[in-house]
Amino acid sequence: MKKALSILELQEKFTSGELSVEENTQKIISEAKNSNKEFHHFNEISWEKALQKSKELDKQLKARKASGKLFGIPVSVKDCLCVKGVESTAGSAILKTYKPLFNATAVERAEREGAIIIGKTSQDEFGFGTFSTNVGKGFQIPLNPYDKKRSCGGSSGGSAGFAALTENTHAGIAESTGGSIACPASFCGVFGFTPTYGRVSRYGLMDYASSLDKIGSMAKNTQDAALMLESIAGIDEKDSTSLPNPVEEYSKLLEKQPKELKIGIIKEFFSEGIDKKVSETVWKALKRLESEGAKLEEISLPLNAKYGIPAYYLVAMTESSTNLAKYCGLRYGNALNLEGSFDEYFTKVRTEFFGEEAKRRIILGTFARMSGFRDAYYLKAMKVRTLLIQEFQQAFKKAEILASPTMPIIAPEFSKIEKLSPLQNYAMDLCTVPANLAGLPHASINAGFEGKMPVGLMLTGNYLQELQLLQASRMIEKAVQ
Ligand code: GLN
Repeated sequence: MKKALSILELQEKFTSGELSVEENTQKIISEAKNSNKEFHHFNEISWEKALQKSKELDKQLKARKASGKLFGIPVSVKDCLCVKGVESTAGSAILKTYKPLFNATAVERAEREGAIIIGKTSQDEFGFGTFSTNVGKGFQIPLNPYDKKRSCGGSSGGSAGFAALTENTHAGIAESTGGSIACPASFCGVFGFTPTYGRVSRYGLMDYASSLDKIGSMAKNTQDAALMLESIAGIDEKDSTSLPNPVEEYSKLLEKQPKELKIGIIKEFFSEGIDKKVSETVWKALKRLESEGAKLEEISLPLNAKYGIPAYYLVAMTESSTNLAKYCGLRYGNALNLEGSFDEYFTKVRTEFFGEEAKRRIILGTFARMSGFRDAYYLKAMKVRTLLIQEFQQAFKKAEILASPTMPIIAPEFSKIEKLSPLQNYAMDLCTVPANLAGLPHASINAGFEGKMPVGLMLTGNYLQELQLLQASRMIEKAVQ
């Protein structure tokens, strides 16, 4: 990962007059434009909008009216969040040309705190994937900054890839349904944070699976990610599932180390199916925490390990098949010549513009919720989900934070990914899916390297324990450094 100034350090340069916001934005935009030719971390770079906002902020600086947690900070937004006036496609050809007339709440709040939106980061189409290889027709696959033959992870691949690559200060707004922030953070060696379900409003998110989708942050370090999170979190009248609990100032409280932190080591995620070198690297990082006073205790999540993947994929596909029904080529996004009946037109548009994985999920998801099958599949998966949540709650009686590797492997080469069957592909989400299914906050922190490739450590906290989780992440960040 390339080093850069932290958000607070960069803001000091703005206030001291050493650097103008516009100069800084110019720098990162030209970097993004250049690196994008090679690495494809952006679907769209919104340089005009970014420069215009920078000029406004410089005026505020001059008038000594600069304020906002993200004042002047370049922010990238995963393509599945609406940014007013900027093409927003969720990586799908079916939404090509769509420029939203409004901002997603998370984007609106970041902008209100002074953020400069520099562009839309690349992803698997609608979030359907683990390697950012399932991009829509006409989109390019983001490449890992550590090795271009390897994946950035998915589905927030562009977000993590750019966070690792850039020499400039930057924070990303990303999204996770089943691990899409943690996975790419792990593969690119950056910090990815997914809060409790409902902590950040989903308004303006092109939904994948509504009971699972969570918006979070991606950055080079815990403090920048904490600043982003506290800027975008909180109740929103436009999302009835957003939580009313007050938002803490995570970034200010980060350094307070939780005393006698009990960390539960998830036994199942250090055994079969996990690359030995990955688990060793994660284990070493955890051992360092132990020497700082944390207590490590083995815990077991047998149900989550066994049923997490099937329950998640049933719920996710079922909900996504419903959510994708609104893309018909009539209201917004891509269209064809209007010919034939509605059904014929609808079929043609969807055949043409949805990718293979999206089609697979629509078909499987529709099957799982069809009358006659709903009880056996979707509703059963939802019942299993409750059992998995209960298992987590038992574990939290023994430990405050749970730990495991984020991914069972380091970032794989594209040539290996091509050979995976869909089922083998889904199995890669073993460690990230349980916390997502339960709606629990979780983070991926770099634990070290295997060869030249980064290895991620995943921490999971209990509901709304964002602060504690960030503090524990900070402890690991320091220990590993
Ligand atoms: N890999 C998982 C999936 O394909 C998670 C993706 C996500 O969180 N958007 O569903």
